[in-house]
Amino acid sequence: MSERPIYFDLPDAGPTRLSAGLGSLTVVGLGPGEAHWLTPAAQHALASASDLVGYGPYLDRIPDRPDCVKHGSDNRVELDRARHALGLAARGGKVAVVSGGDPGVFAMAAAVFEALEAGEPTWLALPITVEPGITAMLAAAAKAGAPLGGDFCAISLSDNLKPWEVITARLEAALAADFVISLYNPISKARPWQLGAALELAARHRPPETPVIFARAVGRRDEALRVLAMSEAVAAAETADMATLVMIGASSTRLIERPGQRPIVYTPRSVTKSPWATSQGRT
Ligand code: SAH
Repeated sequence: MSERPIYFDLPDAGPTRLSAGLGSLTVVGLGPGEAHWLTPAAQHALASASDLVGYGPYLDRIPDRPDCVKHGSDNRVELDRARHALGLAARGGKVAVVSGGDPGVFAMAAAVFEALEAGEPTWLALPITVEPGITAMLAAAAKAGAPLGGDFCAISLSDNLKPWEVITARLEAALAADFVISLYNPISKARPWQLGAALELAARHRPPETPVIFARAVGRRDEALRVLAMSEAVAAAETADMATLVMIGASSTRLIERPGQRPIVYTPRSVTKSPWATSQGRT
């Protein structure tokens, strides 16, 4: 008996017959918030999907259509969700898997490819596309000014998929190299102390006046942007939540104060000094 699932019951099918029965899968970035930050291409992918797969609250952001089925799931079952989506597409569905922000940044696109790599060989024939979205880091940067004007990196503080030692090693390296650092997944009920520890580490590498941005729910109605000094940020760690992106400035990141308005945070494009200049005597 064949081990193929019934929907691949095409034992002798060549690529043409096989692809005739297949649908497609698009991993769609919804952007950080409301619809005006959704690309037209992403909008098109959502409007033409027969099946929408994703975390419940993201699906809620997409208007219902009678000819489209929503398959909601919990936040922490990305791989199951990806397999489910690939299965639906293999049975002929025009499937859109949705992610907040950009789907390639700590999100569903990688989960889909992980499931593809380890999954049914027939899934490899599926047309799979990724529609980018505005990632939280870019949305937060735009609101704050231009903190990403120099070199930067992004680190997820979640230790669900990697050991905490890896996170601190990467953080130390990024701090030593004087990157602007965006921290995704800074804190959650299950991970209450990691952000405080990360900021304490940062405070050892950065001058106390270095700007640290707490950007919460950027692009949504309850958006809140706070710019703190490094010296205040450690104590403020617990005021962040899962909807917050924390951005630690480089040593050159600074504020332009404006009367009656929020200061602009920016990082100059030019760097004149090596980050190792003081610690190792090189320039
Ligand atoms: N794919 C998403 C990131 C998923 S990881 C993206 O590209 O944005 C989830 C983390 O992203 C959250 O814990 C938070 O740190 C950040 N995030 C997502 N949406 C956000 C928003 N609207 N405002 C601030 N941070 C956000």
